[in-house]
Amino acid sequence: MGSTALIVGGGYAGVMAANRLAAAQRPGLAVQLVNPRRRFVERIRLHEYAAGSREDPTAAFESLLHPAVRLVHGSAKRINDGDRTVLLADGRTMPWDYLVYAVGSGHSTVPAGALAVDRLSDAAAARRELAALAPGAGVAVVGGGLTAVETAAETARAFPQLRVALYSAGPIAPRFGEQGRRALEQRLRRAGVQLHTGSPVPPDGDVRRHLGAGVVLWCAGFAAPPLAAVSGLPVNGEGRLRVDPTLQVPGHGRIYGAGDAAVIDRPEYAYLRMCCAAAMPMGAGAAGNILRALDGAAGARHDSGFRGVCVSLGRSDGVVQFVAADDSPARLHLSGRTAAVQKEIICRMTLRWIRGEAKRSGAYTWPTGPKMQPSAPAVQAQTQG
Ligand SMILES: Cc1cc2nc3c(=O)[nH]c(=O)nc-3n(C[C@H](O)[C@H](O)[C@H](O)COP(=O)(O)OP(=O)(O)OC[C@H]3O[C@@H](n4cnc5c(N)ncnc54)[C@H](O)[C@@H]3O)c2cc1C
Repeated sequence: MGSTALIVGGGYAGVMAANRLAAAQRPGLAVQLVNPRRRFVERIRLHEYAAGSREDPTAAFESLLHPAVRLVHGSAKRINDGDRTVLLADGRTMPWDYLVYAVGSGHSTVPAGALAVDRLSDAAAARRELAALAPGAGVAVVGGGLTAVETAAETARAFPQLRVALYSAGPIAPRFGEQGRRALEQRLRRAGVQLHTGSPVPPDGDVRRHLGAGVVLWCAGFAAPPLAAVSGLPVNGEGRLRVDPTLQVPGHGRIYGAGDAAVIDRPEYAYLRMCCAAAMPMGAGAAGNILRALDGAAGARHDSGFRGVCVSLGRSDGVVQFVAADDSPARLHLSGRTAAVQKEIICRMTLRWIRGEAKRSGAYTWPTGPKMQPSAPAVQAQTQG
C-alpha cells in the first residue's frame, strides 16, 4: 500500500524536505507540499526587496521542486495526529502518513505603525513607503540582530537622501566577536546609519512619532506560527515545535519538525539558531529519517553546524564572521566587497542546493555540528534529567 508524506510549509526547510523525499523515487510514496503562496519566498532577500535593490524576492515553485511533488495551495489550520489529517483554512482535509512541520517564523508581533521586514506583504509596503519619502525624512530600523543590521545598511545605501537610524536594546550582532562587531559598526556608520545601541523601543504606542520617523522597519526577532500549539503538539516557550535529535516529535512518531518553526529540545543543540543555514539541513534530515522509517530503520541523529556568518551591508559591502561549528565566533573576519560577494554567492547557492536536491536525493550536504562530548555539562544535564 502507498503512503503520503505531507510537508507543511514551502520555505527553505520544507522545499528541501520535499525534494529529498520525491527524488528518492520510493515506489508508492506520494509527496505533497502545502503552502499559502503560489511562489517560493526567498526570505533571506526581503531586506533587499524592501529597500528596492531587488525587483522580485520570489521564485516559481516549479523551478525548485522535483516534478513528482504535488503542490497544494492552502494554509494548514490544524494538524490531527489521531486520524493523520491536516485541516486547511478553506475546509479541505489532507491525509498523511508522515508529516514534516516546516512553517517557518514569519509571525512576529509588530506595533501599529511599523512594518516587519521578515514578511513579504510588509516588505512590499516598506518598499512603497520608502520610495515615497521626501529627502531628509527619517527611517528607523528596530532590532540588533543581523536582519536589522542588513536592513539598515541596505536602506541607507539605497536611499542616501534619507536619515536612517538603527535602534537596538543591546549591542548589535550579539553573537559576533568583538572585532567583527566593530567592523559592522564602522561600516554601518560609513553607510550613513546612525547607531543607537542601548535604546530599547517599547513595542506599543505610536512608534513612528516616538522615533520621529516616516517609516519604521521592525526587525526585533522572528516568531513561530501557533499551528503546533493549536494542534496540541508539544511546543517550547516560543511556540516552536519540540523535536528530539532525530527531528521526530516525541509521542507523535510520524511527525517531524524542521526549520525555524521547530527546535531540537536538547541543550546540546542550543547553538542551532533560527536561520536558513540551519533550516535546510533540518529539512533534508527530516526527509532522510522518513526514508529510513520507510525502510524500517532507526532515524539518524541530526548533525549540522556552521562555518561563517555572512552579512550584506548594501550591494557592495559586507562582513563575514568566521565561526566554529557551534556558531561561536572565531577571531577571523572578512569585510568589504569580498564579503559582499561571498554573501551573494551563498544566497544564490541556497536555490542551487534546493534544485540540486530535486535532481538527486542526497545531493545536498552541509557542515557538521560540534563534536558532542558525552561528558560535556549540557549533555550530562540532559542525560541526567
Ligand atoms: C531579511 C532577512 C534576511 C535573512 N538572512 C539570512 C541569512 O543571510 N542567512 C540565514 O541563514 N538566514 C537568514 N534569514 C533567516 C531565514 O530567512 C529563515 O531562518 C528561513 O527562512 C527559515 O526557513 P524555514 O523553511 O524554516 O521557514 P520560511 O522560509 O519562513 O518558510 C516557511 C513557509 O511556511 C509557510 N507557512 C506558514 N504557515 C503555514 C501554514 N499554516 N500552512 C502552510 N504553510 C505555512 C510560509 O508561508 C512559508 O512559505 C534571514 C531572514 C530575513 C527576514
